[in-house]
Amino acid sequence: MSAIEKGEVPQEVLERVKKLREEIEYHNYRYYVLDSPVISDAEYDNLMRELKDLEARYPQLITPDSPTQRVGFKPIEGFKEVPHKEPMLSLDDAVEEKEVIEFDRRIKRFLNIALDTPIEYTVEPKIDGLAVELVYEEGVLTVASTRGDGYVGEEVTNNIKTIKTIPLRLRRFSEDAPEVPSRLDIRGEVYLNVEEFKRINEERVQRREIPFANPRNAAAGSLRQLDPQVTAQRKLDIFCYGVGYVEGYSFKTQWEILQTLPKWGLKVNPLVRLVPNIEEAIKYHREIEKIRERLPYEIDGMVIKVNDLSLWEKLGLKARSPRYALAYKFQPTQATTQLIDVVFQVGRTGAVTPVAILKPVKIGGVTVERATLHNEDFIKNLDIKIGDIVLVQRAGDVIPEIVMPIIERRIGGEKSIEFPSHCPICGTKLIKKTGEAVWRCPNRGCYAQGVRKIIHFASRNAMNIEGLGTKVAQELVDKGLVQTPADLYYLKIEDFMKLSGFAYKKAKNLFQAIQSSKRTPLWRFIYALGIRHVGEVMAQVLAKRFKSLDKLMQATQVDLMSIPGVGPEAAKSIVEFFKDKENQNIIRRILDSGLTFQEEEVSVEEVPPVFSGQTFVFTGALKNFTREEAKELVTKLGGKVSDSVSKSTDFVVVGEEPGSKYQKAISLGVKILNEEDFLRLLKEKGVSTTIFRGNLKDSTPIKGGLF
Ligand code: NAD
Repeated sequence: MSAIEKGEVPQEVLERVKKLREEIEYHNYRYYVLDSPVISDAEYDNLMRELKDLEARYPQLITPDSPTQRVGFKPIEGFKEVPHKEPMLSLDDAVEEKEVIEFDRRIKRFLNIALDTPIEYTVEPKIDGLAVELVYEEGVLTVASTRGDGYVGEEVTNNIKTIKTIPLRLRRFSEDAPEVPSRLDIRGEVYLNVEEFKRINEERVQRREIPFANPRNAAAGSLRQLDPQVTAQRKLDIFCYGVGYVEGYSFKTQWEILQTLPKWGLKVNPLVRLVPNIEEAIKYHREIEKIRERLPYEIDGMVIKVNDLSLWEKLGLKARSPRYALAYKFQPTQATTQLIDVVFQVGRTGAVTPVAILKPVKIGGVTVERATLHNEDFIKNLDIKIGDIVLVQRAGDVIPEIVMPIIERRIGGEKSIEFPSHCPICGTKLIKKTGEAVWRCPNRGCYAQGVRKIIHFASRNAMNIEGLGTKVAQELVDKGLVQTPADLYYLKIEDFMKLSGFAYKKAKNLFQAIQSSKRTPLWRFIYALGIRHVGEVMAQVLAKRFKSLDKLMQATQVDLMSIPGVGPEAAKSIVEFFKDKENQNIIRRILDSGLTFQEEEVSVEEVPPVFSGQTFVFTGALKNFTREEAKELVTKLGGKVSDSVSKSTDFVVVGEEPGSKYQKAISLGVKILNEEDFLRLLKEKGVSTTIFRGNLKDSTPIKGGLF
């Protein structure tokens, strides 16, 4: 008789445990074997937590085959099996600070040391990819495998060899590197960077295939291919974070491992850190959670590991995880919920966006009720229906989006989504240009477009008119006071007093805010005009290049396309915009009201030498600058730019396809910035508004619904 059938546990607990195990097994299969989960990780973690809690309360229920005692899934057919010499386990996880403190205490109790004795930990980003083991014999990569069930993995040697950053042979890359051991089993996480993940998913949607739910499933799906050519087409990468079985060398600490691997040519994440105690580990976790969205790869937490390997021996392993490490997770970014309805929102350029109305769901502490469904093709290709359970993603400040429907969770009765043929606001027939995914309302007098144009014109990064938000803009249009942004400059204080809740003082404030917006840097005005394809950044480029509105208005498509970062579509859209009589009229009226262009408050030349004494090295192609421009910028800001990386380099800025300087930076422990980090750094130093940063989207999503 199994423990579960014994009498002392309440019947409902027995039933719940059985149900939970079945469910978790099913989700393990979907996730580890098919790389296609049907619930979010946070929902899965909740099921696992509930099962763990029940097993902790009734330990007699624990069986060796319970999901709480097992790792991953056994290898699937088609792949050769590879036993791991040392098991590849999972990690215990924590979502709250108090659980992390308890982890530290538990260790101290286990080791019988005083609770106030600090323990050193390494803190490492928990990369959202899949674990692999690379076996190096006499420095040569001989076998590579997935984690599998922790004891036996799937052989993926040929697939692994397609990953350019994995050395086929280890070498001593620095003078202080130890000899490469005769056998070295490396543990690492194979991952996809965010852009590659997006690319793969966009391709899948176009092919009417369900996209991967997250980069981890995408990485797993890309690596666990019987045909290595498929793997080779995906730009997989790796971060190594540990060792398994080693012969011919003895590491003393985890930090030593992290410092030594790059010296043999293995990539280690640049954000790993050694901290003196658990409080510092928690602090670092907080720090990284803040910058998480800006990293070029996804991380879902930080792994905290006891640094001293002799303590690892003492602490030992549990069935599924070691006692010396903990995955301290970040707030989740995904959840599943029901799609209740779809509404169609008309933007400032007339683009009609389908917006999902959702059964409210909490994601990382925020309730999400609406999310974008992108466009008609997205809905059609993924066959999304009203009533579907959908995977929703909310990351940082970005507007929430539907990732995919969970077709497996359909119960019948779901309804197709009808895309409107006419503008939901003004009734004009919608048009779609060839090659575009977006339907647009061509009616320039469309109420929705009018209101949104005014909101955009007044927004913080455009003319920055305080007090002119969605509600006021809507009322100004509703009351017939304003039709175009030009009308704003001809309103009197009395006009504003016609708005609800506006007494004299409030009306005067808004009037004054509008008047003072008349002194503006040129780029802000260009951006405020709301020209399609002209975002904040391109507006800066244009202002810098033409220096006057007149010259910009006369520029030809060829003139515009000669500017780096201005593509043919943007050039065409700019020329068309300024050729349009109505637009010319609006601009003329605004200028006549007394608009004057002034220099930006802060210009690069005026910025103090914020990079003084700091040396930068650039490697790989940057998207927003040519190499020369980036160098010039750093030099103007007082910094030095060098062509080679050394210990005295302060920052290595890494673009696309970086060269050996990247590897060198990792091995020397030099701070690495991706392009986003570099832009952020500039912004922190107060120079972001005057330099040009291409490629950022021009649409500032409006939170909450206007219509
Ligand atoms: P885990 O992902 O929580 O942690 C262990 C793994 O972390 C290691 O195997 C390794 O691959 C990875 N890792 C990344 N960086 C690391 C570093 N620096 N040091 C050590 N390890 C590092 O555990 P798991 O057992 O792989 O997976 C369990 C998780 O998978 C669950 O918490 C859940 O989020 C997800 N899951 C989801 C579903 C679903 O249906 N949505 C199903 C199964 C599992």
